[in-house]
Amino acid sequence: MLLSLENATVRFGGRAVLDSVDLSVAEHEVVCVLGPSGSGKSTLLRAVAGLQPLDAGRVTLDGNDQNGIPAHRRGVGLMFQDHQLFPQRDVGGNVAFGLRMHGASKAEQADRVRELLDLVGLPGADRRAVASLSGGEQQRVALARALAPRPRLLMLDEPLGQLDRSLRERLVVELRELFSELGTTVLAVTHDQGEAFALADRVVVMRDGRIAQTGTPLEVWQRPADEFVARFLGFDNVVPATVAGQVAATAWGKLPVPDDTPEGNRTLLVRPAGVRLVAADQGLRCSVAARTFKGTHVAVHLQPEDAPRLEAACALRAAPDVGDEVGVEFDVAEIVVMGVPQ
Ligand code: ADP
Ligand code: MG
Repeated sequence: MLLSLENATVRFGGRAVLDSVDLSVAEHEVVCVLGPSGSGKSTLLRAVAGLQPLDAGRVTLDGNDQNGIPAHRRGVGLMFQDHQLFPQRDVGGNVAFGLRMHGASKAEQADRVRELLDLVGLPGADRRAVASLSGGEQQRVALARALAPRPRLLMLDEPLGQLDRSLRERLVVELRELFSELGTTVLAVTHDQGEAFALADRVVVMRDGRIAQTGTPLEVWQRPADEFVARFLGFDNVVPATVAGQVAATAWGKLPVPDDTPEGNRTLLVRPAGVRLVAADQGLRCSVAARTFKGTHVAVHLQPEDAPRLEAACALRAAPDVGDEVGVEFDVAEIVVMGVPQ
């Protein structure tokens, strides 16, 4: 493993902000930590970078314990949340910063700056003032600066956080291509699930300083480990259930569950695609409370008589109107029983 955290713990005022975290990143892997604001993501990166001492546990790089090794000797690059470009230096001066620190000659610096500005799509920009750059361009300069000293591990803190959506979606694809081309090992953190899923080989979901789930983007998306992860990913159809045989008793009635689901009290997630609308005299009777246009489909919010609301995903033309009465049936293929291995 290139990077390992073992039992890594950071406390502020007695509160564990990083709580016994175990996490590894293999060479050439792109790992993205996903979690809400305040879950400890920046603290995690600062601990790996050597900017935040651990209260317990350890960080190893290539198997070597980093305890006591200062930030500039760790060979890792950190791109901060807010870029922090040097406003008084031009683009070239910013990109060359780490190279200068490592004692590269003027000629080496100039070559490498040119190479990196080409790489991030800003050829010839080295004399430009930082203040004249757009947000997306500043982002690219910050990336070039972090990559310049060829860090063995590149860490990115909310790399695309401040950009507007269309630019973010374009840059995330570019970043992914760039990292696979360069074979860069990356540990990124973000609160944005779209960014994490688009960027990462592996996603690590954090909650209150602890790891809630680890898996490929597909695994995490298809099988959220628990209610927190499901809700954080935007799934709202989460309900307590009592499983007996192939049926789960819930507030929404008896729902089908996969064969060999263990019996007992569980939590179910029903994907909106698995909430099927049928005639009002069949299944669970609901009235349509609201509709939200989602581009590819309509999210229909359904209010049963005396149970929590449900969300259904409907084709644009098939979506009922607000106030309509409908019946609901459930597709077992879209039901996830959480907290049990499958
Ligand atoms: P994230 O990056 O996921 O938003 P942070 O790692 O920045 O989370 O912060 C995690 C928690 O630790 C927050 O509650 C934050 O207020 C607290 N925190 C971060 N740095 C310090 C510090 N230097 N002193 C005290 N509390 C801190
Ligand atoms: Mg942060």
